[in-house]
Order: sequence, then C-alpha cells, then structure tokens
Amino acid sequence: MLPSLYFAIARSVVEGAVKLFRKDEAAEEDQDQTIPSLRRRLAAARLPPDAEMVAERELDILSRTGAAAAEYAIGLTYLEYLAALPWHRSTEDNLDLTRAERILEEHHYGLGQVKDRILEHLAIKALRLRRRSRVLAVDDDEAARRNLVLALAREGCEVVTAASAREALEHLEAREFDVLLTDLRLGQSDGMELLERARARWPDTRVVVITGYASIPSAVEAVKKGAFQYLAKPFAIEELRSIVRRALDGRALLKGTKGSVLCFAGPPGTGKTSVGRAVAQALGRSFSRISLGGIRDEADIRGHRRTYAGARPGRVIEEIRRVDSANPVLMLDELDKIGREVKGDPAAALLEVLDPEQNRAFLDHYLDVPFDLSGVLFIVTVNLTDAVPEALLDRLEVIEFPGYTEEEKAQIAARFLCPKQLREKGLSSDQVSFTPEALGTIIREYTREAGIRSLERRIATVCRKIARESLGAGAKSTVEVTPELVAHWLGRRPNRREVMDGEDRVGVATGLVRTEGGGEIIFVETAKMPGTKELIITGSLGEVMRESVQAALSYLRSNAASAGIAPDFFERHDLHIHIPRGAVPKDGPSAGITVLAALASLLTGRAARRDVASTGEITLTGRILPVGGVREKVLAARRAGLAAVVIPAANREEIDELDEETRRGVEIHLAATVPDALEIILRPSPGAGQ
Ligand code: ADP
Repeated sequence: MLPSLYFAIARSVVEGAVKLFRKDEAAEEDQDQTIPSLRRRLAAARLPPDAEMVAERELDILSRTGAAAAEYAIGLTYLEYLAALPWHRSTEDNLDLTRAERILEEHHYGLGQVKDRILEHLAIKALRLRRRSRVLAVDDDEAARRNLVLALAREGCEVVTAASAREALEHLEAREFDVLLTDLRLGQSDGMELLERARARWPDTRVVVITGYASIPSAVEAVKKGAFQYLAKPFAIEELRSIVRRALDGRALLKGTKGSVLCFAGPPGTGKTSVGRAVAQALGRSFSRISLGGIRDEADIRGHRRTYAGARPGRVIEEIRRVDSANPVLMLDELDKIGREVKGDPAAALLEVLDPEQNRAFLDHYLDVPFDLSGVLFIVTVNLTDAVPEALLDRLEVIEFPGYTEEEKAQIAARFLCPKQLREKGLSSDQVSFTPEALGTIIREYTREAGIRSLERRIATVCRKIARESLGAGAKSTVEVTPELVAHWLGRRPNRREVMDGEDRVGVATGLVRTEGGGEIIFVETAKMPGTKELIITGSLGEVMRESVQAALSYLRSNAASAGIAPDFFERHDLHIHIPRGAVPKDGPSAGITVLAALASLLTGRAARRDVASTGEITLTGRILPVGGVREKVLAARRAGLAAVVIPAANREEIDELDEETRRGVEIHLAATVPDALEIILRPSPGAGQ
C-alpha cells in the first residue's frame, strides 16, 4: 500500500476518535446541566414523601449513568414525567348552582330529570363543602397543644386537642375529623398505633404526623401506613399551616366527590358526553374522555412497568398529565364495552380507579409511586347497565338518559343541530331555514335511533349540499329546506315504515326488545313441518331467550286443548323458531310473550297483528312478569309506526310515568296473563285449529 494511503487511513481514524470523544464530552456536559435542572423541577413539583424518595434514588442512579446508556433515557423520561405531573395543581370548584343550571340549559333541550339529578348532586357537594373543617391535634406537651390551637384557629378550623393516644381515640370514636395532627412520640403511647387505628376507623381522615427528630425513615413508615404528610420538628408555623391547608384541600375535594361516581346510562347520541362537558364547565374543571371500548389490556389503564424503552403510564395518569390538573372531570366512556378477550383484569384496575377508598393512592405501574386520584370527578357512561360487573355497578350513581321522542328530536334539531351544522359549513340561519316538516321527514324516514347521532349526520349532509349549491350559478340567496329538498339531497329513504307496509301473517309476531341502541322491533318467525317433536331454534338468541322459547312451548302443550290444538299435534310435527338478525337484542327473558304469540298463531291459524308489538316474560302457568326498558320500547314502537303495544300489567307504574308525548299515537295495553295478551295480538279469525 502507498504511504499516502496509510496516512489517509490513519488520519481518518484519528479524526473519528476525536469526534467520538467530542460527542461524549457534549453528552456529559448536557448531563451536567440536565440533572440539576431536573432536580429543580422535581422540587418545584412538591412530590409527596414516598415519590420524593423514589425520585431521589432515580436521580442518584441517573447521575452515575452515562448519557449514552439506554437506561439513562428511560430514567430521564421517567423523572421528567414525575416532575410534570400536577401533584398539587387543582382548579377551584365553582358551586354556584344558578350558573350550573344556566350552563346545562344553554346546551341542552329537555333532559329534565337528568338536569335535576345533576343539580342535586352538585347541591350536596356544595353543602358538604360548607361544613367547617375539624382538626384533632394530639400532643402530650401542653404548650405544644396550645401553639397548635393558636396556629390553626387562624385557618378557620375548629380545633379539638388530646393529650394522649387514648384520649384521641375517644374523640375519634365519637366523630369524624378532617385532619388528625399527631406527634409520633406521645409519652407512653405510640403515635404510629394511633395513626393505624384512626385510619381504620375513618379512612378519609387525613393524618399529618409530627416527628420530634428529623427521622425520615419513621416518617416514611408513617406515610406507608397511610399518613398524608409528615412535619419535622422544629417547624415554622407557616409550614404547619400550609401542610394542614393542603390536607384540608384534598379533603374538600374528597368530601365533594365521595361515593358519587356518576354513571350516565343510555343509548348512543342521547347527550351523555355533552352533559358531562357541561358539568365540567359549570364546575370550572378541565374535561377529558377515555374510551374504554377498545381496551384489551389492563396496562391500558394501569400502565406498563418501566422496564423497557417506550413504556407508558396508563390512560388515567396520561389524561391527568395532559389536562395538567389533579381534579378534572374524567369521563370513562363505554364501561360496558371493555373487550372480553383481554390481558389481565381491566375491570379490577377500574375498580381501583373508581373506589374512593383506594384511588387516593392509585398505583400506576409506570409511575410506581401512588398518585392521588381522589379529587377527580369520574363520570362513566354505558349503553346498558346489564353488562357492568356487579362490583363496579355498586359504586355508581346511575342517571338514566332516556331516548328522545320525535318531538324532542325536532326541537333539538331546530335549536341546536341545525344552527351548529350551518355554522360549521360557513352558512347562517338567515340564509337557510329548515321547515318543521323537513325535520320530521329526516327524523322519521332517514334515521332510526333512540338518540340523535344519525340525525346530526343527516343534517350535516343537507348543509353540505346547500353550501355547494350556494356557490353554483344562479344560486338563490335564501333556501327553505322542505321535505322534497330533503328527499332530493338524501336520496333513498332507508326507513320508510316497513312494519306498517307488511301484512299480518300466521306464525309471525312482532316484539319489542332492548338493545344497546335503545329499543328495537323484532319479528319472531315460526314454522311447522311433519316430523318427530324436534325443536329448531335459529337466529340471534342467547341462552336466556332459548329458555323462554322452551317455556312458551311447554305452556302451549299443557294448554293445547283449551287453545284448540290437536292433542297429537306435537307428536307429529317439528317446530322451527327464528329471530332474524338485524338489531342484536340483549339476551333476556322479555321476548317470551312474543315467541308464545308467534307459536300460538302458528298452531291456531289465527294471524298475529303485525302492528301490535309485545314484550313480557312468561311463566309456565301463563302469568306475564314485568320487564325493563319500557320507555325505550314504547319509543321504538312509535318510531316504527306501530298501532299498539302489549306491556306486562306489572309495569303499570312505569307506563303511568310516561309523559303524554311519549305515549301519543301508540295504544298501550296492559296484560297480566297470556290469554289477555293473545286476545290483543291475535286476529279473531276462527280458522281451523291443527
Ligand atoms: P352520547 O355521549 O350519549 O353518545 P353526545 O353527547 O355525543 O351523545 O350527543 C350527540 C350530539 O347530540 C352532540 O352534538 C350533542 O351536543 C347533541 N345533543 C344530545 N342531546 C342533546 C340535547 N338534549 N340538547 C341539545 N343537543 C343535544
């Protein structure tokens, strides 16, 4: 090789080494600045003691790790996350009820009961907050007790003192305190034991321990046992006040939300999210939503352990950080849709999130130190409460969002949806008006839903067409949207009243079921053929529905003679029962009477009225038991244009509660027994029995 080439290679090697060296040097310099700045930010974040200890340890490890190592990046991200969390940043609640009412009204038409329930909820919160805070101060030294009283009186608290753990426990036996302030050394008795017993008696009482010497380990032990904070003697009065103030602050949030996870239950598009947002606005809190629908893994809620790069906290902590407030309104959407084939147990993780006993020390796997979620106002939403695990349901205060009537939909469309869609498409209400008939056409013929989601989408489509045409040649300056224009723009009507158009048939009965979308109409079809007693069941039927079919059949067999059915009919025939797919009904016993009516029609040859829908659980002796979702079912019957419904007599109260508007146009028959119901459903054709 030529000497010049040797030289060139040697030079590039040396240059490479120098570059590498420089890069390392730069990283180190970087690291030199990064760690102190991180330390400053962590101090400013005022982490709770246990988190502070972990942060110290991690900082220590970080300062000894080379910046180029993978662990460095992981540790750095983690600490930055800790520093950025809103450990003490909360918004102050606005509990002005008149204002809250105005905000709810401004954004929503109707929903009277929902609004009432929410305002009641806020009123209770406000009342609880108004109570004067009570502090129990325990110290065996009289002068110290006097100082505590003096220092806290200025905070407006009622302060009760005790000279020993025994005396303190007597007070605690009698009533709850917001804050217990105790020395860890109490002469003969032990402050640590007092802490444990106080926590067992009143889990929400915040305990602040005072240590006579700056003994971090015993203070940390106390925090592990549930103390809120520790205070090392000697301390400044201002320090004491500030800690007690913070303890009381947290308590105020807790008092305001305790035992009150709201659950909004109702079909899609009935305003759950939008009311949730209005609640947040009324309280002056941030709002955020987490959809539980897609959740497949417990880690989505509780986070991934920090063992690999790219590990993240769970959605709850992520949202808290994103909104940068420890007390937002957090809406957990579609609690009933948590995936079934999931890793771990997301429901258990959620239980921890929602349980006020546990959520003040929520442990996200990534954070690995507890975060206090007790200030968060959780609102969960579900379509049906049936699918929610019992343990979770117990914690929820359920507020039902009923489906809307046609008239309510028309009002909401005219007042909210049309103006909003026009605005979004750059049009104005001066240019475009929707006639009530046009809105009625959209509602009846282009949508079939309990809520107003497709209605909003259809209105959006119409507005889009108008926007486009308004720029075309010869466009008019104002447009009045009529049913004809709606038909022109929206095309085929998917929803003409197909139920009304069909004919009464033998062996086919109309039923009402509840689905996630609200109420729905189903048709139960039956057929008979020569055979040997076989029963074939097809269609979207769950286990409970299959049992209803058996019960219906047994009832008919045992009453064959009085129903005019030939005694050997069942011996010589097979029966087929089918519920066509389409709307997926929830599995339940309420289709019993409809199945029975279809079979009775088939076996007696009397046609079943297509425009009369039934719902009801049946017993073998022919009684009809009450069912759920009556309002949704009546609304579904109206939407489908049915003439009448048959409802169990035992549901009379719910029927009586229905407003005039919901009932209008549908005749409601209450039936207590199977013969009562059949009398209404079956045509009186005296066709031959089988
Ligand atoms: P959900 O969360 O129940 O599925 P949303 O809150 O998303 O329903 O509501 C769908 C749309 O309908 C939103 O644009 C919402 O503002 C509107 N909306 C629902 N109910 C009402 C109501 N009562 N008054 C005015 N607008 C409503």
